[in-house]
Amino acid sequence: MLIKYNLIKGFWGTVFCIALVLVILELAAGTSGTANAATDIVGICVDGKMVVFADQKPIVDDNNRTLVPIRFPAEELGATVDWLNASRQAKVKNKNHATLPDSDILLTIGKKEVMVNGMTRVMDTTAVIMGKRTMVPLRFISEYMGASVKWDASTRIAFVFTRGQTEEEMNLIMTEKAADHHIPADRVKNIKILMYHEVAIPPKYATENTNQLYVEPAIFEQHLDILKKNGYNTITLRDLYQHWEYGKPIPTNSIILTFDDGYRSMYDFVMPELIKREMVASFFIITDKFNHSGYVNESMIQEMHRNGMEIASHSHSHCDLRNADLEIELNQSKTLLENIINDNVYSFCYPCGLYDKNTIDYLAKCGYKVAITVNYGEALINQNIYELKRIRINREDQIETFSKKVAPPGKP
Ligand SMILES: [Zn+2]
Repeated sequence: MLIKYNLIKGFWGTVFCIALVLVILELAAGTSGTANAATDIVGICVDGKMVVFADQKPIVDDNNRTLVPIRFPAEELGATVDWLNASRQAKVKNKNHATLPDSDILLTIGKKEVMVNGMTRVMDTTAVIMGKRTMVPLRFISEYMGASVKWDASTRIAFVFTRGQTEEEMNLIMTEKAADHHIPADRVKNIKILMYHEVAIPPKYATENTNQLYVEPAIFEQHLDILKKNGYNTITLRDLYQHWEYGKPIPTNSIILTFDDGYRSMYDFVMPELIKREMVASFFIITDKFNHSGYVNESMIQEMHRNGMEIASHSHSHCDLRNADLEIELNQSKTLLENIINDNVYSFCYPCGLYDKNTIDYLAKCGYKVAITVNYGEALINQNIYELKRIRINREDQIETFSKKVAPPGKP
Protein backbone atom coordinates (compact mmCIF):
# COMPACT_ATOMS: atom_id res chain seq x y z
CA MET A 1 0.00 0.00 0.00
CA LEU A 2 1.20 3.45 -0.80
CA ILE A 3 -0.08 6.42 1.10
CA LYS A 4 0.82 9.77 -0.32
CA TYR A 5 0.73 13.11 1.40
CA ASN A 6 0.97 16.28 -0.61
CA LEU A 7 2.01 18.87 1.80
CA ILE A 8 2.28 22.58 2.12
CA LYS A 9 5.68 24.12 2.14
CA GLY A 10 6.52 25.73 5.47
CA PHE A 11 9.73 27.61 5.91
CA TRP A 12 9.48 28.11 9.66
CA GLY A 13 8.65 24.49 10.18
CA THR A 14 11.81 23.53 8.40
CA VAL A 15 14.09 25.62 10.50
CA PHE A 16 12.20 24.81 13.66
CA CYS A 17 12.83 21.18 12.96
CA ILE A 18 16.51 21.63 12.44
CA ALA A 19 16.73 23.66 15.58
CA LEU A 20 14.99 20.98 17.52
CA VAL A 21 17.44 18.38 16.34
CA LEU A 22 20.42 20.35 17.38
CA VAL A 23 19.04 21.40 20.69
CA ILE A 24 18.44 17.81 21.61
CA LEU A 25 21.90 16.85 20.43
CA GLU A 26 23.30 19.41 22.81
CA LEU A 27 21.14 18.13 25.60
CA ALA A 28 22.18 14.59 24.96
CA ALA A 29 25.80 15.58 25.16
CA GLY A 30 25.34 17.40 28.42
CA THR A 31 23.20 15.06 30.47
CA SER A 32 23.82 11.86 32.31
CA GLY A 33 22.13 9.62 34.79
CA THR A 34 18.77 7.99 34.78
CA ALA A 35 16.61 10.88 33.75
CA ASN A 36 15.11 11.85 30.50
CA ALA A 37 16.86 14.70 28.69
CA ALA A 38 13.54 16.09 27.52
CA THR A 39 12.93 17.47 30.97
CA ASP A 40 15.57 20.13 30.49
CA ILE A 41 14.22 23.46 29.41
CA VAL A 42 15.52 24.91 26.18
CA GLY A 43 14.58 27.63 23.76
CA ILE A 44 14.83 27.79 20.02
CA CYS A 45 15.51 30.91 18.05
CA VAL A 46 15.26 30.91 14.28
CA ASP A 47 16.81 33.82 12.42
CA GLY A 48 16.22 36.00 15.47
CA LYS A 49 12.70 34.80 16.29
CA MET A 50 11.91 32.63 19.31
CA VAL A 51 9.87 29.58 18.35
CA VAL A 52 7.02 28.36 20.55
CA PHE A 53 6.40 24.63 20.85
CA ALA A 54 2.80 23.79 20.07
CA ASP A 55 1.35 20.33 20.64
CA GLN A 56 4.00 18.58 18.55
CA LYS A 57 6.08 17.31 21.42
CA PRO A 58 9.11 15.24 20.53
CA ILE A 59 10.10 12.21 22.56
CA VAL A 60 13.58 11.23 23.63
CA ASP A 61 14.47 7.62 22.95
CA ASP A 62 16.84 5.28 24.78
CA ASN A 63 19.74 6.64 22.75
CA ASN A 64 18.98 10.12 24.01
CA ARG A 65 17.90 11.22 20.56
CA THR A 66 14.76 13.07 19.75
CA LEU A 67 12.07 11.47 17.65
CA VAL A 68 9.16 13.38 16.11
CA PRO A 69 6.12 12.16 14.24
CA ILE A 70 7.05 11.95 10.58
CA ARG A 71 4.06 14.02 9.56
CA PHE A 72 5.53 16.91 11.50
CA PRO A 73 8.69 17.41 9.47
CA ALA A 74 6.75 16.45 6.40
CA GLU A 75 3.99 19.00 6.80
CA GLU A 76 6.24 21.71 8.09
CA LEU A 77 9.11 21.13 5.71
CA GLY A 78 7.01 21.12 2.62
CA ALA A 79 8.26 17.64 1.87
CA THR A 80 6.41 14.72 0.36
CA VAL A 81 6.24 11.57 2.44
CA ASP A 82 5.54 8.15 0.95
CA TRP A 83 4.98 5.29 3.34
CA LEU A 84 6.01 1.92 1.87
CA ASN A 85 4.08 -0.50 4.02
CA ALA A 86 5.58 -3.73 2.71
CA SER A 87 9.17 -2.71 3.40
CA ARG A 88 8.26 -0.53 6.40
CA GLN A 89 10.07 2.39 4.83
CA ALA A 90 9.37 6.09 4.66
CA LYS A 91 10.47 8.20 1.73
CA VAL A 92 10.91 11.88 2.41
CA LYS A 93 11.54 14.31 -0.43
CA ASN A 94 12.30 17.97 -0.06
CA LYS A 95 12.50 19.95 -3.28
CA ASN A 96 12.88 23.54 -4.40
CA HIS A 97 12.92 24.99 -0.92
CA ALA A 98 13.56 28.73 -0.83
CA THR A 99 16.84 28.58 1.04
CA LEU A 100 17.70 24.96 1.73
CA PRO A 101 19.12 22.36 -0.66
CA ASP A 102 17.04 19.47 -2.02
CA SER A 103 17.06 16.24 -0.10
CA ASP A 104 15.85 12.73 -0.77
CA ILE A 105 15.74 10.45 2.25
CA LEU A 106 14.70 6.82 2.60
CA LEU A 107 14.54 5.42 6.11
CA THR A 108 13.47 2.05 7.43
CA ILE A 109 11.71 1.42 10.73
CA GLY A 110 14.13 -0.12 13.22
CA LYS A 111 17.21 0.42 11.06
CA LYS A 112 20.08 2.80 11.56
CA GLU A 113 21.03 2.89 7.88
CA VAL A 114 19.38 5.64 5.88
CA MET A 115 19.68 6.43 2.20
CA VAL A 116 20.31 10.12 1.73
CA ASN A 117 20.55 11.48 -1.79
CA GLY A 118 21.51 7.99 -2.94
CA MET A 119 24.21 7.46 -0.33
CA THR A 120 24.05 5.30 2.79
CA ARG A 121 24.34 7.15 6.06
CA VAL A 122 24.19 5.67 9.54
CA MET A 123 22.25 7.28 12.35
CA ASP A 124 22.95 6.41 15.97
CA THR A 125 19.31 5.56 16.57
CA THR A 126 16.32 4.41 14.55
CA ALA A 127 12.85 5.41 13.47
CA VAL A 128 10.12 3.58 15.36
CA ILE A 129 6.37 3.14 15.25
CA MET A 130 4.52 4.29 18.35
CA GLY A 131 0.81 3.70 18.33
CA LYS A 132 -0.15 4.72 14.84
CA ARG A 133 2.65 7.22 14.42
CA THR A 134 5.95 6.80 12.68
CA MET A 135 8.51 8.59 14.83
CA VAL A 136 11.71 9.64 13.13
CA PRO A 137 15.01 10.82 14.55
CA LEU A 138 15.56 14.44 13.67
CA ARG A 139 19.31 14.52 13.76
CA PHE A 140 19.93 13.34 10.23
CA ILE A 141 17.57 15.94 8.82
CA SER A 142 19.76 18.74 10.12
CA GLU A 143 22.77 17.35 8.31
CA TYR A 144 21.24 17.96 4.91
CA MET A 145 19.44 21.22 5.42
CA GLY A 146 22.44 23.48 5.17
CA ALA A 147 21.50 25.68 8.13
CA SER A 148 23.96 27.05 10.68
CA VAL A 149 23.22 26.29 14.29
CA LYS A 150 24.78 27.71 17.40
CA TRP A 151 24.14 26.78 20.99
CA ASP A 152 24.23 29.24 23.84
CA ALA A 153 24.70 27.28 27.05
CA SER A 154 24.04 30.18 29.41
CA THR A 155 20.55 30.82 28.07
CA ARG A 156 20.00 27.29 26.75
CA ILE A 157 18.85 28.65 23.43
CA ALA A 158 19.66 26.98 20.14
CA PHE A 159 20.12 29.57 17.42
CA VAL A 160 19.33 28.52 13.90
CA PHE A 161 20.37 30.57 10.89
CA THR A 162 18.97 29.74 7.51
CA ARG A 163 19.77 32.74 5.39
CA GLY A 164 23.50 32.44 5.07
CA GLN A 165 24.15 35.06 7.75
CA THR A 166 27.74 36.07 8.41
CA GLU A 167 29.44 35.22 11.68
CA GLU A 168 29.01 38.83 12.74
CA GLU A 169 25.30 38.84 11.99
CA MET A 170 24.82 35.61 13.89
CA ASN A 171 26.65 37.01 16.91
CA LEU A 172 24.54 40.16 16.87
CA ILE A 173 21.34 38.13 17.01
CA MET A 174 22.70 35.90 19.75
CA THR A 175 23.80 38.82 21.90
CA GLU A 176 20.45 40.48 21.54
CA LYS A 177 18.49 37.33 22.43
CA ALA A 178 20.81 36.48 25.29
CA ALA A 179 20.03 39.90 26.78
CA ASP A 180 16.30 39.13 26.63
CA HIS A 181 16.73 35.72 28.19
CA HIS A 182 19.68 36.34 30.42
CA ILE A 183 20.04 34.98 33.90
CA PRO A 184 20.06 38.01 36.22
CA ALA A 185 23.59 39.09 37.00
CA ASP A 186 23.09 38.74 40.74
CA ARG A 187 22.35 35.01 40.50
CA VAL A 188 25.03 32.50 41.34
CA LYS A 189 25.43 30.26 38.29
CA ASN A 190 27.02 27.21 39.89
CA ILE A 191 27.26 25.85 43.38
CA LYS A 192 28.63 22.76 45.06
CA ILE A 193 26.16 20.53 46.85
CA LEU A 194 27.98 18.00 49.00
CA MET A 195 26.39 14.60 49.63
CA TYR A 196 26.87 12.86 52.97
CA HIS A 197 25.16 9.87 54.50
CA GLU A 198 26.12 8.54 57.92
CA VAL A 199 28.66 10.37 60.06
CA ALA A 200 29.92 7.64 62.37
CA ILE A 201 32.50 4.91 62.67
CA PRO A 202 31.26 2.06 60.47
CA PRO A 203 30.08 -1.04 62.31
CA LYS A 204 32.00 -4.27 61.91
CA TYR A 205 29.25 -5.78 59.77
CA ALA A 206 29.45 -3.00 57.17
CA THR A 207 30.20 -4.31 53.70
CA GLU A 208 32.72 -2.70 51.39
CA ASN A 209 29.87 -0.78 49.76
CA THR A 210 28.03 0.43 52.84
CA ASN A 211 31.37 1.27 54.39
CA GLN A 212 31.66 4.04 51.83
CA LEU A 213 28.58 5.72 53.23
CA TYR A 214 30.32 6.41 56.54
CA VAL A 215 32.45 9.43 57.26
CA GLU A 216 34.14 9.22 60.62
CA PRO A 217 33.27 12.00 63.07
CA ALA A 218 36.84 13.26 63.45
CA ILE A 219 37.23 13.47 59.66
CA PHE A 220 33.88 15.19 59.36
CA GLU A 221 34.99 17.88 61.79
CA GLN A 222 38.03 18.43 59.63
CA HIS A 223 35.80 18.75 56.55
CA LEU A 224 33.82 21.52 58.23
CA ASP A 225 37.00 23.28 59.28
CA ILE A 226 38.34 23.12 55.72
CA LEU A 227 35.12 24.70 54.45
CA LYS A 228 35.47 27.50 57.02
CA LYS A 229 39.11 27.98 56.16
CA ASN A 230 38.27 28.23 52.44
CA GLY A 231 35.75 30.96 53.20
CA TYR A 232 32.67 28.92 52.33
CA ASN A 233 29.28 29.88 53.73
CA THR A 234 26.65 27.18 54.06
CA ILE A 235 23.11 27.66 52.82
CA THR A 236 20.23 25.21 52.41
CA LEU A 237 18.72 23.95 49.18
CA ARG A 238 15.65 25.99 50.00
CA ASP A 239 17.83 29.11 50.14
CA LEU A 240 19.29 28.19 46.76
CA TYR A 241 15.86 27.76 45.22
CA GLN A 242 14.68 31.12 46.57
CA HIS A 243 17.87 32.74 45.34
CA TRP A 244 17.55 31.35 41.84
CA GLU A 245 13.81 31.88 41.60
CA TYR A 246 13.31 35.16 43.44
CA GLY A 247 16.74 36.66 43.84
CA LYS A 248 16.90 36.16 47.62
CA PRO A 249 20.45 37.18 48.56
CA ILE A 250 22.89 34.44 49.53
CA PRO A 251 26.40 34.93 50.92
CA THR A 252 29.45 34.85 48.70
CA ASN A 253 31.10 31.45 48.35
CA SER A 254 27.96 29.58 49.23
CA ILE A 255 28.02 25.82 49.53
CA ILE A 256 25.33 23.29 50.44
CA LEU A 257 25.72 20.29 52.72
CA THR A 258 23.16 17.52 52.30
CA PHE A 259 22.69 14.46 54.47
CA ASP A 260 20.66 11.51 53.18
CA ASP A 261 18.60 9.02 55.18
CA GLY A 262 18.11 10.85 58.51
CA TYR A 263 20.41 8.84 60.76
CA ARG A 264 20.46 9.50 64.48
CA SER A 265 24.01 10.86 64.16
CA MET A 266 22.53 13.87 62.38
CA TYR A 267 21.02 15.04 65.63
CA ASP A 268 23.60 13.70 68.04
CA PHE A 269 26.70 14.83 66.24
CA VAL A 270 26.26 16.64 62.93
CA MET A 271 23.90 19.35 64.08
CA PRO A 272 26.00 20.39 67.14
CA GLU A 273 29.14 20.53 64.98
CA LEU A 274 27.32 22.70 62.43
CA ILE A 275 25.90 25.00 65.09
CA LYS A 276 29.37 25.43 66.61
CA ARG A 277 30.55 26.82 63.29
CA GLU A 278 27.35 28.74 62.49
CA MET A 279 26.62 26.40 59.63
CA VAL A 280 23.39 24.95 58.25
CA ALA A 281 22.55 21.92 56.13
CA SER A 282 19.69 20.12 54.39
CA PHE A 283 18.59 16.80 55.89
CA PHE A 284 16.65 14.23 53.89
CA ILE A 285 14.38 12.11 56.02
CA ILE A 286 12.89 8.70 55.16
CA THR A 287 9.51 9.08 56.79
CA ASP A 288 8.80 5.43 57.56
CA LYS A 289 12.16 5.25 59.33
CA PHE A 290 11.97 8.18 61.68
CA ASN A 291 11.17 7.22 65.25
CA HIS A 292 13.03 3.94 64.57
CA SER A 293 16.22 3.35 66.49
CA GLY A 294 19.24 4.62 64.63
CA TYR A 295 17.19 7.40 63.01
CA VAL A 296 16.05 10.83 64.09
CA ASN A 297 12.64 11.10 65.73
CA GLU A 298 9.96 13.79 65.60
CA SER A 299 11.25 15.98 68.40
CA MET A 300 14.79 15.82 67.00
CA ILE A 301 13.49 16.91 63.60
CA GLN A 302 11.68 19.80 65.23
CA GLU A 303 14.80 20.89 67.05
CA MET A 304 16.90 20.67 63.90
CA HIS A 305 14.35 22.81 62.10
CA ARG A 306 14.36 25.37 64.92
CA ASN A 307 18.13 25.58 64.55
CA GLY A 308 17.86 26.62 60.91
CA MET A 309 18.43 23.20 59.39
CA GLU A 310 16.35 22.36 56.34
CA ILE A 311 14.10 19.33 56.80
CA ALA A 312 13.32 17.65 53.49
CA SER A 313 11.98 14.39 52.11
CA HIS A 314 13.90 11.32 51.02
CA SER A 315 10.59 9.49 50.25
CA HIS A 316 8.53 7.39 52.61
CA SER A 317 10.15 3.99 52.20
CA HIS A 318 13.35 4.61 50.24
CA CYS A 319 12.20 2.56 47.25
CA ASP A 320 12.77 2.75 43.51
CA LEU A 321 10.44 5.62 42.57
CA ARG A 322 10.15 4.47 38.98
CA ASN A 323 7.84 1.75 40.21
CA ALA A 324 6.22 3.04 43.38
CA ASP A 325 3.11 4.58 44.84
CA LEU A 326 4.10 8.21 44.38
CA GLU A 327 1.18 9.49 46.42
CA ILE A 328 2.67 7.79 49.47
CA GLU A 329 6.34 8.24 48.64
CA LEU A 330 6.26 11.87 47.54
CA ASN A 331 3.06 13.50 48.72
CA GLN A 332 2.42 11.82 52.04
CA SER A 333 6.04 11.99 53.11
CA LYS A 334 5.96 15.73 52.45
CA THR A 335 2.75 16.26 54.42
CA LEU A 336 4.04 14.16 57.29
CA LEU A 337 7.19 16.27 57.61
CA GLU A 338 5.30 19.53 57.19
CA ASN A 339 3.01 18.61 60.06
CA ILE A 340 6.00 17.94 62.28
CA ILE A 341 7.94 21.11 61.52
CA ASN A 342 4.93 23.32 60.86
CA ASP A 343 6.65 24.69 57.78
CA ASN A 344 6.82 23.95 54.08
CA VAL A 345 9.01 21.20 52.70
CA TYR A 346 10.73 22.41 49.54
CA SER A 347 13.27 19.78 48.68
CA PHE A 348 13.43 16.15 47.70
CA CYS A 349 16.23 13.62 47.30
CA TYR A 350 15.74 10.55 45.08
CA PRO A 351 16.43 7.29 46.97
CA CYS A 352 19.49 5.68 45.35
CA GLY A 353 19.30 8.40 42.72
CA LEU A 354 16.56 6.53 40.85
CA TYR A 355 13.80 8.46 39.10
CA ASP A 356 12.17 9.09 35.74
CA LYS A 357 10.18 11.81 34.06
CA ASN A 358 7.01 10.68 35.79
CA THR A 359 8.69 11.10 39.18
CA ILE A 360 9.69 14.64 38.31
CA ASP A 361 6.17 15.51 37.13
CA TYR A 362 4.73 14.16 40.36
CA LEU A 363 7.22 16.08 42.49
CA ALA A 364 6.15 19.30 40.82
CA LYS A 365 2.51 18.38 41.33
CA CYS A 366 3.13 17.86 45.06
CA GLY A 367 4.66 21.30 45.33
CA TYR A 368 8.29 20.33 45.73
CA LYS A 369 10.52 23.10 44.38
CA VAL A 370 13.84 21.39 44.01
CA ALA A 371 15.32 17.88 43.89
CA ILE A 372 18.81 16.43 44.06
CA THR A 373 20.34 13.42 42.36
CA VAL A 374 23.47 11.35 42.90
CA ASN A 375 24.89 12.43 39.55
CA TYR A 376 28.35 13.85 40.13
CA GLY A 377 29.10 17.50 39.53
CA GLU A 378 28.30 21.05 40.49
CA ALA A 379 24.70 22.21 40.50
CA LEU A 380 24.10 24.76 37.76
CA ILE A 381 21.38 27.36 37.39
CA ASN A 382 20.52 25.99 33.97
CA GLN A 383 20.23 22.39 35.12
CA ASN A 384 16.71 21.15 35.60
CA ILE A 385 15.81 22.26 39.14
CA TYR A 386 14.62 18.69 39.80
CA GLU A 387 17.89 17.15 38.67
CA LEU A 388 20.61 19.01 40.51
CA LYS A 389 23.95 17.27 40.68
CA ARG A 390 25.96 16.67 43.84
CA ILE A 391 29.47 15.96 44.91
CA ARG A 392 29.63 12.68 46.79
CA ILE A 393 31.77 12.64 49.91
CA ASN A 394 33.04 9.18 50.76
CA ARG A 395 34.69 7.51 53.67
CA GLU A 396 38.00 7.73 51.85
CA ASP A 397 37.74 11.50 51.49
CA GLN A 398 40.42 12.53 53.89
CA ILE A 399 41.87 15.99 53.96
CA GLU A 400 43.53 15.94 50.57
CA THR A 401 40.75 14.56 48.39
CA PHE A 402 38.11 16.52 50.26
CA SER A 403 40.05 19.74 49.72
CA LYS A 404 40.21 18.95 46.03
CA LYS A 405 36.48 18.30 45.83
CA VAL A 406 35.66 21.63 47.44
CA ALA A 407 38.33 23.68 45.69
CA PRO A 408 36.96 27.12 44.80
CA PRO A 409 34.48 26.94 41.96
CA GLY A 410 35.75 27.26 38.45
CA LYS A 411 34.01 26.59 35.22
CA PRO A 412 31.69 23.61 35.49
ZN1 LIG B 1 19.20 7.22 50.75
